[in-house]
Amino acid sequence: MEISKRAQNIQASITLAISAKAKQMQEEGIKVINFTVGEPDFGTPEYIIEAAKKALDAGHTKYTASAGIIPLRRAICEKLKRDNGLEYTPSQIVVANGAKQALAGTVLALVNPGDEVIIPAPYWITYPELVKLAGGTPVFVETGEDFKITPEQLEAAITAKTKAVIINSPNNPTGAVYTESQLRALADVLKSENAIWVISDEVYENLVYGKAKHFSIARVYNRTVVINGFSKTYSMTGWRIGYSASSAEVAAAIDNIQSHVTSNVNTMTQHAGQEALAGKQGDKFLRDMLAEFDRRRSYITERISKMPRASCNLPDGAFYVMVKTDVTSEQLLDYARIATVPGAAFGAPGYIRFSYTVSVDDIKEGMDRLEAYLDSTRA
Ligand code: PLP
Repeated sequence: MEISKRAQNIQASITLAISAKAKQMQEEGIKVINFTVGEPDFGTPEYIIEAAKKALDAGHTKYTASAGIIPLRRAICEKLKRDNGLEYTPSQIVVANGAKQALAGTVLALVNPGDEVIIPAPYWITYPELVKLAGGTPVFVETGEDFKITPEQLEAAITAKTKAVIINSPNNPTGAVYTESQLRALADVLKSENAIWVISDEVYENLVYGKAKHFSIARVYNRTVVINGFSKTYSMTGWRIGYSASSAEVAAAIDNIQSHVTSNVNTMTQHAGQEALAGKQGDKFLRDMLAEFDRRRSYITERISKMPRASCNLPDGAFYVMVKTDVTSEQLLDYARIATVPGAAFGAPGYIRFSYTVSVDDIKEGMDRLEAYLDSTRA
């Protein structure tokens, strides 16, 4: 066999397969409402685009330090202090090609073959694959109705081999947001154990609704690597920029790995990222985007709650809603022409994930189709 066991061990992305089928249907002239998309349907704010252009004009077109330019890392430290109450210095920050690469670097820097990494389910599909790439073993913990791991569940999942726990709040795919006291309780469990790391994926931190508040577990648990990025907050998914913040020792290891794999994030994007954090215009952009997502969140959950064979929580964050139903994602695509992601992809069979990254008009049409399909297939 030519292909390494490591590569064979990695699952292909289910999301991509569904998107491909939906695209093919669209090319055949069938109107598909696409609820699979994991990125905001807003353009990147103009001031950030301008900063990238300015960087090119100023000749910022060469390699930088692999962990990123110092002014950007300084701006990230300021952001972490201002928004999250966390103290870091630039040597603890590694700027990566998206939060995804920051996660990959972190897992590779921490996990040895045979180590266990606790992943509450439902989870973002990339986590278990990264753990497997590092030779580790993902240990899944089924969460309850609120989709959050409890201190008791965490304690029960810990073994002598546990190296890390991945916490993702706000969560993809469930939209669940842990409260400060819930995170403090998880930290208390970990403090009584020996040397377990938390990898805290906070990419949706700014997408929280109603009374929900984002809190970083790094505030109460030192052995944390904070993962964050620009994709969701500033609608910069295609720019590929994110970062990790950790101890200087872990950051050096992450940087060392990255220096051999990709080197620095492209230089113009780093300058744009620096401006994204500094510019006041970002606040207004975010407020407007959040208001629109909130409107869609209310609409979609209200419609679903009225359907007899479908139910969902009101998610506190991100832009996803997990719908419990007895129909499959495949049936919805074939017969209702709605593209969604099956919960099984996130370790949550029996659920389907809808992203509300489409217009209210499209959500309305999608919900009409879902309702009609559920009606027409009633036993
Ligand atoms: N973490 C979670 C939970 C995500 O949903 C995503 C993207 O969908 C990422 C990380 C990766 O984001 P980035 O574009 O910064 O790599």
